[in-house]
Amino acid sequence: MRPGILEEMTIDDVRTLESNVCVFPIGSTEPHGPVLPYGTDSFQVEAASYGGTVRANELGGRVLCFPTQRVSLNNNFHAFPFACRVQVRTFMSILVDLVDMCAAEGVGPFVFVNGHGGNPYVIRAVQRDLAARDGIFTFLISTLQCADPELRNTLWENQSDHAGEEETSMALHLRPDLVWHEKIVDHPRHGPVVDVVNEFKPDFVRPWHLYIPESAGGDAPKASADKGERALSSSLEGMGRFLPGLSQAPDTATFPY
Ligand SMILES: [Zn+2]
Repeated sequence: MRPGILEEMTIDDVRTLESNVCVFPIGSTEPHGPVLPYGTDSFQVEAASYGGTVRANELGGRVLCFPTQRVSLNNNFHAFPFACRVQVRTFMSILVDLVDMCAAEGVGPFVFVNGHGGNPYVIRAVQRDLAARDGIFTFLISTLQCADPELRNTLWENQSDHAGEEETSMALHLRPDLVWHEKIVDHPRHGPVVDVVNEFKPDFVRPWHLYIPESAGGDAPKASADKGERALSSSLEGMGRFLPGLSQAPDTATFPY
Protein backbone atom coordinates (compact mmCIF):
# COMPACT_ATOMS: atom_id res chain seq x y z
CA MET A 1 0.00 0.00 0.00
CA ARG A 2 1.32 3.40 -1.00
CA PRO A 3 0.16 6.01 1.56
CA GLY A 4 -2.12 8.52 -0.12
CA ILE A 5 -3.15 6.38 -3.08
CA LEU A 6 -6.84 6.01 -2.29
CA GLU A 7 -7.55 2.91 -4.34
CA GLU A 8 -4.78 1.02 -2.49
CA MET A 9 -5.83 2.06 1.02
CA THR A 10 -8.16 0.53 3.60
CA ILE A 11 -10.62 2.58 5.62
CA ASP A 12 -8.16 2.48 8.54
CA ASP A 13 -5.38 3.82 6.30
CA VAL A 14 -7.64 6.64 5.14
CA ARG A 15 -8.63 7.62 8.67
CA THR A 16 -5.01 7.52 9.87
CA LEU A 17 -3.82 9.80 7.05
CA GLU A 18 -6.19 12.65 8.01
CA SER A 19 -5.65 14.15 4.59
CA ASN A 20 -5.95 17.87 4.01
CA VAL A 21 -5.07 18.04 0.29
CA CYS A 22 -6.86 16.14 -2.50
CA VAL A 23 -5.24 15.37 -5.85
CA PHE A 24 -7.34 14.55 -8.92
CA PRO A 25 -5.31 13.10 -11.83
CA ILE A 26 -7.06 13.67 -15.16
CA GLY A 27 -5.94 11.57 -18.11
CA SER A 28 -7.48 10.63 -21.43
CA THR A 29 -8.01 7.55 -23.56
CA GLU A 30 -7.49 8.52 -27.18
CA PRO A 31 -5.41 7.47 -30.20
CA HIS A 32 -1.71 8.36 -30.18
CA GLY A 33 -0.83 7.11 -33.66
CA PRO A 34 0.61 3.72 -34.60
CA VAL A 35 3.41 3.86 -31.99
CA LEU A 36 1.84 4.74 -28.64
CA PRO A 37 -1.13 3.29 -26.73
CA TYR A 38 -4.47 5.02 -26.18
CA GLY A 39 -3.64 5.29 -22.49
CA THR A 40 -0.52 7.42 -22.96
CA ASP A 41 -1.94 10.55 -21.26
CA SER A 42 -3.37 8.55 -18.36
CA PHE A 43 -0.15 6.60 -17.77
CA GLN A 44 1.85 9.81 -17.58
CA VAL A 45 -0.48 11.78 -15.34
CA GLU A 46 -0.95 8.82 -13.01
CA ALA A 47 2.80 8.28 -12.66
CA ALA A 48 3.30 11.95 -11.79
CA SER A 49 0.29 12.20 -9.46
CA TYR A 50 0.79 8.91 -7.64
CA GLY A 51 4.55 9.31 -7.40
CA GLY A 52 4.20 12.94 -6.31
CA THR A 53 1.67 12.01 -3.64
CA VAL A 54 3.85 9.24 -2.23
CA ARG A 55 6.83 11.56 -2.09
CA ALA A 56 4.75 14.34 -0.55
CA ASN A 57 3.56 12.05 2.23
CA GLU A 58 7.10 10.82 2.90
CA LEU A 59 7.99 14.48 3.43
CA GLY A 60 5.24 15.13 5.98
CA GLY A 61 2.32 15.93 3.68
CA ARG A 62 -1.21 14.64 4.22
CA VAL A 63 -2.19 14.20 0.60
CA LEU A 64 -4.91 11.92 -0.77
CA CYS A 65 -4.78 11.07 -4.47
CA PHE A 66 -7.93 9.98 -6.27
CA PRO A 67 -8.06 7.33 -9.01
CA THR A 68 -7.21 8.73 -12.43
CA GLN A 69 -10.11 10.06 -14.50
CA ARG A 70 -9.35 8.23 -17.77
CA VAL A 71 -12.10 9.66 -19.99
CA SER A 72 -12.17 13.39 -20.66
CA LEU A 73 -12.64 15.82 -23.58
CA ASN A 74 -12.02 14.59 -27.12
CA ASN A 75 -14.83 15.90 -29.35
CA ASN A 76 -12.22 17.25 -31.79
CA PHE A 77 -10.89 13.68 -32.09
CA HIS A 78 -14.20 12.15 -33.13
CA ALA A 79 -13.00 11.27 -36.65
CA PHE A 80 -10.78 8.61 -35.06
CA PRO A 81 -12.14 5.36 -33.58
CA PHE A 82 -12.88 5.22 -29.87
CA ALA A 83 -11.40 8.55 -28.90
CA CYS A 84 -13.14 8.28 -25.53
CA ARG A 85 -15.04 11.40 -24.58
CA VAL A 86 -17.72 12.93 -22.46
CA GLN A 87 -19.38 16.26 -23.21
CA VAL A 88 -18.05 19.44 -21.63
CA ARG A 89 -21.01 19.78 -19.27
CA THR A 90 -20.60 16.17 -18.11
CA PHE A 91 -16.89 16.63 -17.51
CA MET A 92 -17.53 19.80 -15.52
CA SER A 93 -20.12 17.99 -13.42
CA ILE A 94 -17.70 15.15 -12.66
CA LEU A 95 -15.03 17.56 -11.42
CA VAL A 96 -17.48 19.64 -9.38
CA ASP A 97 -18.96 16.48 -7.82
CA LEU A 98 -15.50 15.21 -6.81
CA VAL A 99 -14.61 18.53 -5.21
CA ASP A 100 -17.97 18.72 -3.43
CA MET A 101 -17.53 15.23 -2.05
CA CYS A 102 -14.11 16.04 -0.62
CA ALA A 103 -15.23 19.42 0.66
CA ALA A 104 -18.00 17.64 2.56
CA GLU A 105 -15.26 15.58 4.26
CA GLY A 106 -13.64 18.84 5.32
CA VAL A 107 -10.66 18.30 3.03
CA GLY A 108 -9.01 20.89 0.79
CA PRO A 109 -7.36 22.52 -1.12
CA PHE A 110 -7.79 20.54 -4.32
CA VAL A 111 -5.23 19.95 -7.03
CA PHE A 112 -6.26 18.96 -10.56
CA VAL A 113 -3.30 17.34 -12.31
CA ASN A 114 -4.10 17.40 -16.01
CA GLY A 115 -2.47 15.15 -18.58
CA HIS A 116 -4.54 15.93 -21.70
CA GLY A 117 -4.30 19.04 -23.86
CA GLY A 118 -8.05 19.23 -24.54
CA ASN A 119 -8.96 19.84 -20.91
CA PRO A 120 -7.39 22.99 -19.43
CA TYR A 121 -9.93 25.56 -20.70
CA VAL A 122 -12.75 23.56 -19.15
CA ILE A 123 -10.92 22.81 -15.90
CA ARG A 124 -10.30 26.55 -15.58
CA ALA A 125 -14.01 27.14 -16.17
CA VAL A 126 -14.75 24.74 -13.30
CA GLN A 127 -12.32 26.67 -11.12
CA ARG A 128 -14.20 29.88 -12.03
CA ASP A 129 -17.51 28.32 -11.04
CA LEU A 130 -16.15 26.95 -7.78
CA ALA A 131 -14.72 30.35 -6.89
CA ALA A 132 -18.27 31.32 -5.94
CA ARG A 133 -18.02 29.06 -2.90
CA ASP A 134 -16.18 30.11 0.23
CA GLY A 135 -13.80 27.52 1.65
CA ILE A 136 -13.04 25.82 -1.66
CA PHE A 137 -9.73 26.48 -3.33
CA THR A 138 -8.56 24.61 -6.43
CA PHE A 139 -5.27 24.52 -8.29
CA LEU A 140 -4.50 23.24 -11.77
CA ILE A 141 -1.11 21.86 -12.79
CA SER A 142 -0.06 19.65 -15.69
CA THR A 143 1.86 16.36 -15.62
CA LEU A 144 5.32 17.93 -15.92
CA GLN A 145 4.57 21.40 -14.56
CA CYS A 146 6.51 20.90 -11.34
CA ALA A 147 9.63 19.76 -13.20
CA ASP A 148 12.66 22.04 -13.17
CA PRO A 149 11.90 24.87 -15.67
CA GLU A 150 15.48 24.80 -16.98
CA LEU A 151 15.15 21.09 -17.75
CA ARG A 152 11.75 21.60 -19.39
CA ASN A 153 13.27 24.24 -21.67
CA THR A 154 16.32 22.24 -22.69
CA LEU A 155 15.37 18.57 -22.58
CA TRP A 156 13.25 18.44 -25.73
CA GLU A 157 14.88 19.09 -29.10
CA ASN A 158 11.67 19.51 -31.12
CA GLN A 159 8.54 20.00 -29.03
CA SER A 160 5.15 18.76 -30.12
CA ASP A 161 1.76 18.53 -28.44
CA HIS A 162 0.76 14.99 -29.28
CA ALA A 163 2.66 11.72 -29.56
CA GLY A 164 5.91 13.44 -30.51
CA GLU A 165 9.25 13.54 -28.73
CA GLU A 166 7.86 14.22 -25.26
CA GLU A 167 5.06 11.68 -25.08
CA THR A 168 7.07 9.00 -26.84
CA SER A 169 9.90 9.54 -24.34
CA MET A 170 7.49 9.26 -21.43
CA ALA A 171 5.93 6.10 -22.85
CA LEU A 172 9.36 4.57 -23.52
CA HIS A 173 10.16 5.18 -19.86
CA LEU A 174 6.82 4.14 -18.33
CA ARG A 175 5.39 1.48 -20.65
CA PRO A 176 8.06 0.32 -23.15
CA ASP A 177 6.09 -2.91 -23.50
CA LEU A 178 3.34 -0.94 -25.27
CA VAL A 179 5.52 1.10 -27.66
CA TRP A 180 5.92 -0.04 -31.28
CA HIS A 181 9.57 0.99 -31.67
CA GLU A 182 9.90 -0.08 -35.31
CA LYS A 183 7.05 2.25 -36.32
CA ILE A 184 8.57 5.42 -34.83
CA VAL A 185 8.72 8.17 -37.49
CA ASP A 186 8.36 11.96 -37.68
CA HIS A 187 4.61 12.29 -38.35
CA PRO A 188 3.50 15.48 -40.13
CA ARG A 189 1.54 18.27 -38.48
CA HIS A 190 -0.56 20.55 -40.69
CA GLY A 191 -1.39 24.22 -40.16
CA PRO A 192 -4.36 26.20 -41.47
CA VAL A 193 -4.09 27.46 -45.06
CA VAL A 194 -6.33 30.52 -44.54
CA ASP A 195 -3.90 33.43 -44.27
CA VAL A 196 -5.89 35.57 -41.84
CA VAL A 197 -6.19 32.67 -39.43
CA ASN A 198 -2.42 32.37 -39.37
CA GLU A 199 -2.00 36.14 -39.10
CA PHE A 200 -4.48 36.90 -36.29
CA LYS A 201 -4.35 33.54 -34.51
CA PRO A 202 -7.95 33.37 -33.26
CA ASP A 203 -8.65 30.64 -30.73
CA PHE A 204 -10.30 27.64 -32.31
CA VAL A 205 -10.65 23.94 -31.62
CA ARG A 206 -8.50 22.02 -34.08
CA PRO A 207 -10.16 19.07 -35.83
CA TRP A 208 -7.34 16.65 -35.14
CA HIS A 209 -7.84 14.51 -38.23
CA LEU A 210 -6.92 17.66 -40.24
CA TYR A 211 -4.10 18.74 -37.93
CA ILE A 212 -2.48 15.30 -37.55
CA PRO A 213 -4.05 12.76 -39.94
CA GLU A 214 -2.06 9.87 -38.39
CA SER A 215 -3.40 10.78 -34.91
CA ALA A 216 0.22 11.45 -33.98
CA GLY A 217 2.37 14.45 -34.82
CA GLY A 218 5.94 15.42 -34.15
CA ASP A 219 9.48 14.33 -33.95
CA ALA A 220 9.16 10.98 -32.20
CA PRO A 221 12.59 9.75 -33.47
CA LYS A 222 14.15 12.24 -31.01
CA ALA A 223 12.49 10.43 -28.11
CA SER A 224 14.31 8.26 -25.58
CA ALA A 225 13.48 6.45 -22.36
CA ASP A 226 16.23 8.46 -20.68
CA LYS A 227 14.53 11.77 -21.53
CA GLY A 228 11.25 10.42 -20.20
CA GLU A 229 12.90 9.27 -16.99
CA ARG A 230 14.60 12.64 -16.44
CA ALA A 231 11.38 14.57 -17.08
CA LEU A 232 9.32 12.43 -14.74
CA SER A 233 11.85 12.32 -11.92
CA SER A 234 12.19 16.11 -12.06
CA SER A 235 8.40 16.42 -11.95
CA LEU A 236 8.23 14.10 -8.94
CA GLU A 237 10.89 16.13 -7.17
CA GLY A 238 8.80 19.28 -7.74
CA MET A 239 5.52 17.61 -6.73
CA GLY A 240 7.32 16.42 -3.59
CA ARG A 241 7.72 20.08 -2.65
CA PHE A 242 4.50 21.53 -4.07
CA LEU A 243 2.04 19.13 -2.42
CA PRO A 244 3.50 19.09 1.11
CA GLY A 245 3.86 22.86 0.81
CA LEU A 246 0.09 23.08 0.40
CA SER A 247 -0.52 20.48 3.10
CA GLN A 248 1.63 22.31 5.62
CA ALA A 249 0.44 25.83 4.77
CA PRO A 250 -1.48 27.62 7.57
CA ASP A 251 -5.15 26.60 7.47
CA THR A 252 -6.69 30.06 7.25
CA ALA A 253 -9.83 31.45 5.65
CA THR A 254 -7.62 33.59 3.40
CA PHE A 255 -5.53 30.69 1.95
CA PRO A 256 -3.31 31.06 -0.06
CA TYR A 257 -3.00 34.76 0.81
ZN1 LIG B 1 -1.31 12.48 -25.25
